[in-house]
Amino acid sequence: MTTGLRWALIGASTIARERIVAAIRAAGGNIVAVQSGNLERAEAFAADFALPLATQHLAEAVANADAVYISSTNAQHCAQTLQALDTGCHVLCEKPIAIDLADARRMIAAAGAAGRILAVNHHLRHNAVHRKIRDCIVSGQIGTPRAVIISNAGWLPGHLRGWRLSGPGAGIVLDKTVHDIDLLRFLLASDPRSVSAAFSGPNGEPPHAIMGILDFGPTLSAQFHDDFDAPFGQTRLEVIGDAGRLIAEDCLSGRPAGSLTLHDQSGPHILSIAHHDPYAALIDNFQQAARNGAPIAASGRDGAIALATALAAIQSATTGSRTQIENLP
Ligand code: NDP
Repeated sequence: MTTGLRWALIGASTIARERIVAAIRAAGGNIVAVQSGNLERAEAFAADFALPLATQHLAEAVANADAVYISSTNAQHCAQTLQALDTGCHVLCEKPIAIDLADARRMIAAAGAAGRILAVNHHLRHNAVHRKIRDCIVSGQIGTPRAVIISNAGWLPGHLRGWRLSGPGAGIVLDKTVHDIDLLRFLLASDPRSVSAAFSGPNGEPPHAIMGILDFGPTLSAQFHDDFDAPFGQTRLEVIGDAGRLIAEDCLSGRPAGSLTLHDQSGPHILSIAHHDPYAALIDNFQQAARNGAPIAASGRDGAIALATALAAIQSATTGSRTQIENLP
């Protein structure tokens, strides 16, 4: 573990409250401030977690910080990232990196110009089950992958049924599908080229559910299903290779959870998993990148590719046609 950074929290959010404060502290970081659009909410948050400063102003929050964690609503990510980079801070931004690809490009360019890290909280890369799946693929245990099926439907709890269901940046695709896409790129070490998708669930905007197929080339495709309104059951991920198959259950949440079974010619094998907090692992990776130049697990570019692919999925579902995914250099 590396020496922790001084962090400012931008957004008095549920994810910061439920996961990130503990993750930063577990990784040795020191949280010096929380910013909220509502001073009372910032003060309540600061009191609950014994933070030294609560403020409505980003500039004040970052005054003694090395890094910011942005977990505001999706539409605010770009402007807050640009402002934080301008003050010299490294930025860990929540997903989706932005709600518009031009904004994502501006964020990446600004981080490059400032010589600061821009990372995106695609925490599923750090789930121990997903690390094991990637290792199995790389070591050839299932032969050549032919298909991946991600089932990421769940029930969106009542307290999160606000901005996710109306306004800019709302809808299932920028909420869950971006995670699926980033995870697929991580597991397959490959970028999707086009997408075909269809919305499902109740009529009206924004969509609550989507199913789609990503084309990774002539011999590899991936299917995803995301839903806000599917109670019961658990998430699932299956990787089908020409010499074996990996089946993971309950691995797509933020919990350090999930099981993995390898099926091959010698039968099913339950693989042992050493679980750890994926968010703490992500913060540790970020701090090592800031301190020692270690490679960042999910960079701004990774976030932008997930966004470009998600926007192509929305276009495909809206137009009813296969859509090419915009390339990012
Ligand atoms: P919340 O709705 O809890 O918080 C988002 C913003 O809403 C906060 O910054 C806050 O604004 C405002 N807010 C919070 N509570 C209230 C309230 N009671 N009344 C009015 N406004 C409130 O969102 P989430 O924590 O679920 O998501 C935040 C971001 O994190 C999103 O971008 C989301 O996509 C992402 N996310 C990522 C996850 C991951 O695993 N990577 C998991 C969950 C979310 P203010 O700061 O101004 O007070």
